[in-house]
Amino acid sequence: MIQLIDTHAHLDHVVNLDEVLAESAKAGVSAVLAVSTDLKAMKRNLEIASLAKGSLAMTAGLEIYLGLGVHPGDIKTEELEDSYAFIEENIGEADVIGEIGLDFSYKWIRKDEDKKNEQREVFRRQLAIAKKFDKPVVVHTRWTWRECFEIVREFDMKKANFHWYSGPVDILEEIIKSGYYVSSGPALAFSPQSREAISQAPIEQTLIETDSPVYFNYPEEMGGGFKSTPKDVFRSLDAYAKLKGLPSEKAAETLNKNAKDFIGI
Ligand SMILES: [Zn+2]
Repeated sequence: MIQLIDTHAHLDHVVNLDEVLAESAKAGVSAVLAVSTDLKAMKRNLEIASLAKGSLAMTAGLEIYLGLGVHPGDIKTEELEDSYAFIEENIGEADVIGEIGLDFSYKWIRKDEDKKNEQREVFRRQLAIAKKFDKPVVVHTRWTWRECFEIVREFDMKKANFHWYSGPVDILEEIIKSGYYVSSGPALAFSPQSREAISQAPIEQTLIETDSPVYFNYPEEMGGGFKSTPKDVFRSLDAYAKLKGLPSEKAAETLNKNAKDFIGI
């Protein structure tokens, strides 16, 4: 049976977590990287990861790796200093910093220079923490791909994953040249932007994920829409293998190796 690592899930948002993890483990998910978006999420994911470390039976044998960070779409100004302090205090438990980044896709953000600057500042503060403690970063970016990439380069980060990359191909080329990863989820089965980007990225620098729980609007002929859980990383693999014309086993082998290299396990 093929085993897979889901490199991006929001386990703090999953309802019936025990059940979902048991089901995912049964489907062949061996590990999940649980990323965070704000202070509340960090606390919950730390708890989930600690429970898993204490006893893998709690997660049906599935390993949980932890990402600590504040998402650009989830910034609560009054919580920021506590959030940075929380990341540093718990850095020993964190495998990666994420998900962090820039998101200018919201109309109200595009018109608000102060809000954009706040995102930039929050991103930089967290890259500085990642740099200080030598942690990989999981980067979220929409509508500002170039700036986001350039900031990561400026910090000279060793390891970064541009998660769910669906940006322009010229920036993708620079991401790849810099030795970073791009990741792709179930949307790869139908999203033209996602397919365009991932088809151009070498498999050695690609990760797969689910971003669960997210609703994916699959067309009827592909089984219809569904809310993702970590087991849907198998849909990501399936779409990836088809797109690249590779046997699933072969693709899984490399994608798992990449996940381990990225997380550092
Ligand atoms: Zn996410």
